[in-house]
Amino acid sequence: MFNTKFCFPDQWTFANYSKLLSDLKKCYTFLSFSDNDSSAKRKIFLRHDIDVHPNFLDPLLEVETSLDIRSDIYLLNESPLYTIEDMAPKVTDLLSNGFTVNLHFEYDKNSPDSYEAQHLVQLERFVNVTGHQPKLYTDHKPRGQTHVNVSCNELINAHSANVNGPCDYISDSRGQWNHSNHPLKKSHLMLLTHPIWWNQEHVEPLNCLLRASQHHEPHIQQSLLHRLTFRR
Ligand SMILES: [Zn+2]
Repeated sequence: MFNTKFCFPDQWTFANYSKLLSDLKKCYTFLSFSDNDSSAKRKIFLRHDIDVHPNFLDPLLEVETSLDIRSDIYLLNESPLYTIEDMAPKVTDLLSNGFTVNLHFEYDKNSPDSYEAQHLVQLERFVNVTGHQPKLYTDHKPRGQTHVNVSCNELINAHSANVNGPCDYISDSRGQWNHSNHPLKKSHLMLLTHPIWWNQEHVEPLNCLLRASQHHEPHIQQSLLHRLTFRR
């Protein structure tokens, strides 16, 4: 059913993103994962993890806004190209336009502190800087069992839905489509995109990363390339 109804494009362009969302909108109700208790029969949770830089987010949000769709946005406290301090004005702007803004948590397995303790430190910085208390979080590059946690420090782990919950899951992680079930089996769907891969005209994943870091020092480029896994 899924494969015949929806065409997940090979060319990751804004035009194809718009076509994909309009097709999905015919079959699903777009909701924030914070409204997961809605009684809608077929729900879709559209999510963006901002691993690189928020500049790549805006064109996708323009597409969504034109289709009267809103998404859940997850921000890191620290990436090679932005910090949450840089993002405070943007958070206010996103919230006022109906998007939810949430914590993209990065667990350091080499730290002596527990997952929960690290999560709390990052959450407190996020709230102090933005003045916004998020309801949701996701793990950046989830490892081991971290992603099955249903909640942490009273934030709901949206990523756990595709492990424990009623959602199928499709993502563009590593610059390729990843499907939890193929074809889809469940009533609801979580769709994760990383805005860096999407462009006016299709750009290969490595070139997306190089472009993102081209005006930065070589060690930042290297940090970015090491930090993100992608299709080669
Ligand atoms: Zn991430």
